[in-house]
Amino acid sequence: MRKIDMHIHLVGNAHGGHGCWLRVTPVKRLLFRFMLRQIGLPMSALLRDLDTPYVERLLQWIRVSSLDAVVLLAQEAVYDDDGRLLRDCGNAYVPNSRVLELARRHPEFLPAISIHPARRDAMEELEQCLAGGAVMMKYLPNCQNINCNDRRFTPFWQRMAQAGLPLLAHTGGERTLQVVRPEYADPRILRLPLECGVTCIAAHAASPSTAREPNYFPVLAQMMRDHPRLYADTSALNLPHRSKVLRDCLRPEILPRLVHGSDYPVPVQTLWPWLRGVISRGDMLRCARIANPIERDYQLKVATGFPPETFTRINQLLRQP
Ligand SMILES: [Zn+2]
Repeated sequence: MRKIDMHIHLVGNAHGGHGCWLRVTPVKRLLFRFMLRQIGLPMSALLRDLDTPYVERLLQWIRVSSLDAVVLLAQEAVYDDDGRLLRDCGNAYVPNSRVLELARRHPEFLPAISIHPARRDAMEELEQCLAGGAVMMKYLPNCQNINCNDRRFTPFWQRMAQAGLPLLAHTGGERTLQVVRPEYADPRILRLPLECGVTCIAAHAASPSTAREPNYFPVLAQMMRDHPRLYADTSALNLPHRSKVLRDCLRPEILPRLVHGSDYPVPVQTLWPWLRGVISRGDMLRCARIANPIERDYQLKVATGFPPETFTRINQLLRQP
């Protein structure tokens, strides 16, 4: 079975000509610079076609890593509850056509689409993407204003369940992107899709991104008891605050519900799992020397004690087109 990193962001800008856009506000500038540097691209990459070097660099990292493939995520724009596009909201957009096209060209990429369910053409776009080979849906409910529990979306969830398309949803706080509905960070936002039979994956295991945010991990653990189709991913868990849940993720009842993800291009820090006491000093120093961020994240997760199934389990959850 393939080893898969199931949480890899695609990023592009208007210069690339693939319909992507990126809005780097002054507040986010430093953070974006830091992220670009960690994947080996200069800040000036934002001033010209970002799409091509981003994809080339990512493919290089994958090909020299322990992983066989990655799930590449599209990024939906922000819509209001009635499906009207909110043009001034959001920091990034990647159309579904872009990830579907890249996946056709490169076997390393598995395409995850993103469709706001309030969009008037949501069902039509879903059908088109299913025909195009989509394997997963990705949302950030708190950043994209998606109230998954809105009853109007029931037919949309039912169609996803019927097609076997799982939903990866950001849970827990967020600080890389603009947040429009902080309360949608609560994993209970996934109740209705779960009831409709959709396999849901709570990204970041509902961990907090700052000290002030609530830690929703206990809520998630309780929900896992009630919903056998609920999983969580390990993405970005090496960050200062998210690493708080690393030890809880190793609990025997949680481990069988975890899948491996990095959250590339979000930085992979080796210090925090060591400070949290889940890896040795030797492993911290060894991983810090790995330049490839995808491989560094993989090696840290292995050292943390995530068993081999964590890295292949997603094969059984993805839609098989
Ligand atoms: Zn992410």
